[in-house]
Amino acid sequence: MSEISELRKKNLIFLGAPGAGKGTIAKEMVAKYHIAHISTGDILRGEVAAQTEPGKRAEALMKSGQLVPDELVAGMVRRRIAAPDCKRGFILDGFPRTIRQAELLEDALREQNLFLDLVVYLEVDDETLLSRLTARMNCRKCDAIYNKLTRPPKVAGICDVCGGELFQRPDDSLETAKSRLEVFCNQTAPLVDYYRKNGLLFTLEAGPIPDMMAKLSAELE
Ligand code: ADP
Ligand code: ZN
Repeated sequence: MSEISELRKKNLIFLGAPGAGKGTIAKEMVAKYHIAHISTGDILRGEVAAQTEPGKRAEALMKSGQLVPDELVAGMVRRRIAAPDCKRGFILDGFPRTIRQAELLEDALREQNLFLDLVVYLEVDDETLLSRLTARMNCRKCDAIYNKLTRPPKVAGICDVCGGELFQRPDDSLETAKSRLEVFCNQTAPLVDYYRKNGLLFTLEAGPIPDMMAKLSAELE
């Protein structure tokens, strides 16, 4: 049986603009350390697909690139971090996205006697973000992420991993991409200072994925 190393710093937030690569790095981390990946975007898309009450509330906001209400997402995260698979550690990917959400997260962590170890800020310039966002393709079956520019599949439109069909998320159009970046600048970017002030911030510059993984592992192990 192969050894899976335990992390010294294991409860993490991934902070960064849409398109910064949070999901991609998170998936690499999960494969390497078997910690839990908590993507509020994925959870919300699941709720929309199932047409639950929260899903119905979130749907239109998500299509237009706006944030769904803080209390709604925070409640989902509060329940999720209590699950047994989070004991080895977790990555919050795409949460918190507002100062209010960060405060609600602190309450939820305190309640469960948990602590944040690090906030990883993925830093990427705006131009790169826009081109990445509008070139992104996801697999319908296995959720693998591709990019027409930087990470194309071997066969156009087909997933390398599982042969599933690739599609573009409705919120990856140019107009929505722009408004998502604006939302990030206005509502989420203040969290960079917030976490810098409390000493938790670790800035990870954009680069080839193996380089980013090496830097991150060195900080966490
Ligand atoms: P990306 O990974 O590209 O940043 P996500 O998949 O995380 O995008 O999120 C997609 C959409 O889901 C967001 O544009 C927003 O409408 C909603 N969403 C996800 N996470 C949150 C959150 N923490 N707070 C509010 N809305 C959220
Ligand atoms: Zn696939």
